[in-house]
Amino acid sequence: MTTTDLSSLQQQIDQAAEQIAEEVIAWRHHLHENPELSNREVETEAYIVEQLKGIGIGEEDITTGVGGHGVVAYIRGGADGDEDKKTVLLRADTDALPVKEDSGESFASTKVDKDYPGGPFPIAHACGHDTHVAMLLGASKILFDMRDSIHGDIMLVFQPAEEGPPQGEPGGADHMVAHMTEQGFFEPKPTMAFGIHIGAGPVGAIGYSVGVQNAASETVKITVTGQQVHASTPWQGIDPMPAVGDILSNIGQIYRQVDVKERFAISLGHIVDQGRFNIVGNQVEIWGTVRSVDDSVLDDINKRIERYVGHLAEAHGCKGEVEFLDQIPPVVNTPEWVEAVLPVYKHVAGDNPVSEIPVSMGYDDVSEFIARFGGVYALLGGQDVRYNADGSVELTHESSRGLVPNHSPKFYVNDDALAYGVRLHAHIAVGHLMGDVNSADKGVDK
Ligand SMILES: [Zn+2]
Ligand SMILES: [Zn+2]
Repeated sequence: MTTTDLSSLQQQIDQAAEQIAEEVIAWRHHLHENPELSNREVETEAYIVEQLKGIGIGEEDITTGVGGHGVVAYIRGGADGDEDKKTVLLRADTDALPVKEDSGESFASTKVDKDYPGGPFPIAHACGHDTHVAMLLGASKILFDMRDSIHGDIMLVFQPAEEGPPQGEPGGADHMVAHMTEQGFFEPKPTMAFGIHIGAGPVGAIGYSVGVQNAASETVKITVTGQQVHASTPWQGIDPMPAVGDILSNIGQIYRQVDVKERFAISLGHIVDQGRFNIVGNQVEIWGTVRSVDDSVLDDINKRIERYVGHLAEAHGCKGEVEFLDQIPPVVNTPEWVEAVLPVYKHVAGDNPVSEIPVSMGYDDVSEFIARFGGVYALLGGQDVRYNADGSVELTHESSRGLVPNHSPKFYVNDDALAYGVRLHAHIAVGHLMGDVNSADKGVDK
């Protein structure tokens, strides 16, 4: 492959992205109006398959039901090349959130999931995963049409349950990876993983971190067990509530026991008790999350949580237990990978800023793919603002909704952002398979 061949493919990508822009927007609006919660992405899965087939991808190259309602599809390059064939894994997450949408969009969701555990819940694509799916479908269409000029394969991964499955159900990237491993999807191993998250920032602006981009995360379940009794005779039982109170007020001491330079957060946000005004309940569950930029700090924090829970419960005659669930590794962009993708980011962003951004304490389980195969995660802006030279934010027009964070009922994405995402996926794929978007870092076997 000569440089001219590569640049002609790059031109084709940019032209095709413009030509299919309206179609990608239509896909996005359909997905947005029909959101589904984590592990319930039944119609989303069917819609993805319908579009992949419409693009021309054969049934034999589409697998459904992967790790729940996940879809994996292949675009197989038909061109010969001097080097060994590579495989680039492009990932989009597909699930929505239990949020009542207040975005003001004409295609806003009015859906409610009546049967979801803990529900009924209104549902909205308040994290923008509808745009992720539409962008990856758009890139699939472009890459499929140029497959005969590509040396190497593209693995399309539409991943469910990124926001976390209901408690007790397997789901999310780790479940999908386990399922894909079992089914032989990783033989041979993909040589790069790539994903995009849309968010609060100017349309077309691309952000990245060198090193940790998204924190490691886990769910903490604390169970304090006493002994149920009539509330009029508490001495005949064991009340778990005072131990719970002590745990809640003392857990904050951990911030004073870990080096102030470390970045982490502990939040206990949900309590389930079994008592009543006239019953001292038997058991209380406390649910929370821990986030940390560093895995070893997370381990240290966990030991401290266990110590507090065990001893404070014991002090009140109760039993305290801690479980750490849904452990998700941090998203790490190694300096080598960042260097390799930066020219692509700059090409795609054009006049929009490409900037290094601080680490986010929000997790993203795309880390399960990037940690195994190497690669990077890009953050794409999708809102009606621009940055001034001094870093302040200006609205692009009077009725702009400004910067609205993901997960807010008012979260919105300007459709103009979609073409940037389509081009990012397609350029990264072609750049990796046929150009110099490469790094010696190929992830670690887990
Ligand atoms: Zn989210
Ligand atoms: Zn998200």
